[in-house]
Amino acid sequence: MNRSELMNRKQRIVIKVGSSTLTHPETGAMNLTKMERLVRILADIRNSGRDVVLVSSGAIAVGRKAMNITERPKEQDLKQACAAIGQSRLMMVYQRLFAEYNKITAQVLITKDTMIQDTMRRNARSTFMKLLEMGTIPVVNENDTVATDEIEFGDNDTLSAIVAALIHADLLIILSDQDGFFTADPRKDPDAKLVEEITFITDELEAMAGGAGSDVGTGGMAAKVSAARIANDAGADMVIANGNDMNNITRVLEGQNVGTLFRAHRNENFHLIDYLRKER
Ligand code: GLU
Repeated sequence: MNRSELMNRKQRIVIKVGSSTLTHPETGAMNLTKMERLVRILADIRNSGRDVVLVSSGAIAVGRKAMNITERPKEQDLKQACAAIGQSRLMMVYQRLFAEYNKITAQVLITKDTMIQDTMRRNARSTFMKLLEMGTIPVVNENDTVATDEIEFGDNDTLSAIVAALIHADLLIILSDQDGFFTADPRKDPDAKLVEEITFITDELEAMAGGAGSDVGTGGMAAKVSAARIANDAGADMVIANGNDMNNITRVLEGQNVGTLFRAHRNENFHLIDYLRKER
C-alpha cells in the first residue's frame, strides 16, 4: 500500500510535540506562533472527523521560564515544582488557542503506575474513549509532579507510543527538531541520509540511533526508535517529522514523503502490560 492510501485510512492519530519545538531556544519562552499553527492543524484534523490526541511536553520548561530559573533544575523537588507551575500555564495557552476553533481540550496526566495497574489502566483507557467520543482533544503529559526517576517513563516519546497503544491509535506522529531518522548523526556526518521508510526495526538500526536507551547519537533518536517499536508492535504506524514546520503534519496525513515512516507490523504477542513490566 502506498503512503497516501495508508494515510487516507487513518482515523485515530496521536501527535507528540517536545519542549524544544514549543519554546524559543534563545529565551525559553513559549513559541506562540508554532503553538497556534499546531492547534489550528489539530482542530482541522478533528473537523475532518478523525480522533486526535496531543502528547505535549513543556511543563518543566514553561515553569522554569515563569520563575526565571535559567539553569535546568537538577533537584527533584524543584523540577516537580516547575512542572506543576508550567503544566497549568501550558494548558491555559492550549485551551485559549483551541477555543478559537471551538474545540474543547482535556488534560490527561499519566504516570507509569497508571499504566501498570490494571484498574488504573482500564480507567485511563475508558476516559480517553469517552473524551474522544465527546469530540474533545485530550492533551497528555507525564504527571511530572509525582513521577520520580524510578517510576517515570522518562521521555514523552515513550509516553506517546504507550498512549497510542492504549487507545488503539492507527498513527503516531512524533515531531522532532530533525527531519527524521538518518543513517548517521546529520549534525556531525555530512554523508548522513534520511531514511524514508523502515519496515522492521533491527538491532543494527537501533545501534544507528545511538544504542537502545542511550539517547545520544542522532538527537534523542534512540528514544524515538524504541517508541516506534512499541507503536508498530501495537499496530500503529509511526512517523518522525520536523516540528519546525507544523505543516509537516498535514503533509504526513496527505501521504507525502516527509520524515521517516516506521511501518506497523502488528505483533500478536504484544501486550502493553508485558512491555511496561519489563521496562520497570
Ligand atoms: N514531561 C516533561 C515536561 O513536560 C518532558 C519530558 C520530555 O520532554 O520527553 O516537561
